[in-house]
Amino acid sequence: MPDPATARGVAAPHLSALAARTETHCPYCALQCGMTLLQNATGLEVAARDFPTNKGGLCRKGWTAAELLTAPDRLRSPWLRRGRENALEPATWEEALDYVVSGLTALQRGYGRNSIGIYGGGGLTNEKAYMLGKFARVVLGTKNIDYNGRFCMASAAVAGQRAFGIDRGLPFPIADIPGAELILMFGANPAETMPPLMQYFEEQRRRGGKLLVADPRRTRTAEVAQLHLQLTPGTDAALANGLLHVLVREKLIDEAYIAARTRGFDAVRKAVASYWPDRVERITGVPAQSVIDAARQLGRAKTAMVFSARGTEQQSHGVDNVLALTNLVLALGLAGKPHSGYGCFTGQGNGQGGREHGQKADQLPGYRKLTSAADREHVAGVWGVPADDLPGPGLATGELFEALGERGGVRALWVMGANPVVSAPRASRLDERLKRLDLLIVCDAFLSETASVADVVLPVTQWAEEEGTMTNLEGRVLYRRAALPVPDGVRTDLQVLKQVATLLGRGQFMSDAPETAFEELTRASAGGKADYGGITYARINAENGVFWPCPSAESAGTPRLFADRFATPDGLARFYAVEYRPPAEEPNEQYPLYLTTGRLLVQYQSGTQTRRVKTLNDVEPEAFVEVHPDTAASLGIRDGELAEVLTRRGRVVCKARFSRNIRFDTIFMPFHFAGTGRANTLTNDAVDPVSKIPEFKIAAARLQRLPESLPSI
Ligand code: SF4
Repeated sequence: MPDPATARGVAAPHLSALAARTETHCPYCALQCGMTLLQNATGLEVAARDFPTNKGGLCRKGWTAAELLTAPDRLRSPWLRRGRENALEPATWEEALDYVVSGLTALQRGYGRNSIGIYGGGGLTNEKAYMLGKFARVVLGTKNIDYNGRFCMASAAVAGQRAFGIDRGLPFPIADIPGAELILMFGANPAETMPPLMQYFEEQRRRGGKLLVADPRRTRTAEVAQLHLQLTPGTDAALANGLLHVLVREKLIDEAYIAARTRGFDAVRKAVASYWPDRVERITGVPAQSVIDAARQLGRAKTAMVFSARGTEQQSHGVDNVLALTNLVLALGLAGKPHSGYGCFTGQGNGQGGREHGQKADQLPGYRKLTSAADREHVAGVWGVPADDLPGPGLATGELFEALGERGGVRALWVMGANPVVSAPRASRLDERLKRLDLLIVCDAFLSETASVADVVLPVTQWAEEEGTMTNLEGRVLYRRAALPVPDGVRTDLQVLKQVATLLGRGQFMSDAPETAFEELTRASAGGKADYGGITYARINAENGVFWPCPSAESAGTPRLFADRFATPDGLARFYAVEYRPPAEEPNEQYPLYLTTGRLLVQYQSGTQTRRVKTLNDVEPEAFVEVHPDTAASLGIRDGELAEVLTRRGRVVCKARFSRNIRFDTIFMPFHFAGTGRANTLTNDAVDPVSKIPEFKIAAARLQRLPESLPSI
């Protein structure tokens, strides 16, 4: 019997390109660098393109993206597991779709509509994210849809909505960055996650600007900063409150702005009063004088930007952490001012658009709410269904995973554009939960770790084989052009959704043509906060992307938000008083170290794509644990030797990698790898109470030499 993991697809037949030279965008992160895909006598290659986000630059992932299109283990037919004890076997599309439809139908008959769960991804195009939400709510009638952005953007999204009334990663274009006198980054490392973005920070520095970085690790970004605040993991809110304490004490805040454009500062003033620098030093480990210096530099800058990313957000107090930063920005009168404000670096390629158009458990397209009667009426009107037929809010990802296989819970899960077996916290628990399902369906271009345990694997197109729009970290909607025809045996995600809907008798609600889907999305979003009403494919191409909100054909789009008012009902921004609270799990005698996880330059997310690119994988082929040499020495561990990392969730084995850039009390693991080095075997699934983001960044851990005889993992 063939094994889908080793079955070799032949790359050549589908490489008769639509055009020998196609202007498109990178398949990976939210910077969405412009690139040109070239087909020549020797095959496919990528050339950098001068697009506003990357100005001709690409990182190594972008340069090697063409390798993905000829990966030898590309899936070229559906695979089916006929019974849980059996192996996956090749199947025809007809067999696979019949299996899907009969399974979904039987489960909904037996257990109700909500027994089906849908799990999407932040890499899906806007069209797919939109259609997936509609498929869940109109075709299947299930409320249970969420997506992997819950692991990524959720804390910044909630904080943005609370403070500013809207969730857009950056409220300004990245072209504004060089004009900022001072930049303060919390838990962000663009030098490794988005290298071309560093051009803007380098230009800012050339103009005399300063960069301050708060991070437990001395990352490549921290290395180029004027001041590195190497805080204890999980103490971000205490540090931000400490900065605001100094700013208030030294009268560096903008009282006129606070009075004219905000509400709620008195409670924040009271809250930060107890965060004097000595106390902040005791909590964060950052010297009191550094807290004072950073606050003074921030307060004296005429223009300043504060950024956060996953380091600060993926915590059980992630929303509070970000609100502590929005408090800072508002107290200094920075939001809405030129070359100033708060922004969050979105991670996944369509992490922004993917959270705007209906994949989230609680939202309808355009950031409309499932709990609002008016919002339901609008979207139901576009969809041609009664508003009462739309289900209510569903389970957020962590809750959805907990419900898998439970009595009265979710019996089937359909995964599109995600690989939770590698990316979910406390992943061994998810391994068990997936086994309890009656039906697991995965759409992917490759046999990911999640696909390999599925009942049905449907092979779908990847980036250069399909067209669609993405919304980058700036809120710029851009167009990713198809460069190659759909390979034999493969279908697009939109085709799969439409075909299943048709077999279920509801095909009339779905579109498999991206431009038609986008046009419908613009109508569904019109009047919502993420208003795409005036955006068309033609405009995107003519204008190098269009910034939302763009409510009409006459609107030029909105590169900069908040100049005159915020997106709250009264136009005023909101302060939220935040107290530092410790992480869900702190080191103790048994688990004396902080484990934090993150990304590497040459790998991306769960590695389904980049682990298949030889050029990248040769550089970082396996997991490792980064540890300070002094810490390692105290444990008798040598550089490069295998070591064990243990938390309350489990243990992994990987090589120790020494670094003097990490704190003595902290170890770091990249989360891209599967198997015995899977970092998420160890991570804590405690979540922020509001955003439901898991605490990927902090777990109490023990590092130790590998015992002589290693029990099986
Ligand atoms: Fe691709 Fe992001 Fe690298 Fe740009 S920075 S080339 S979008 S992975």
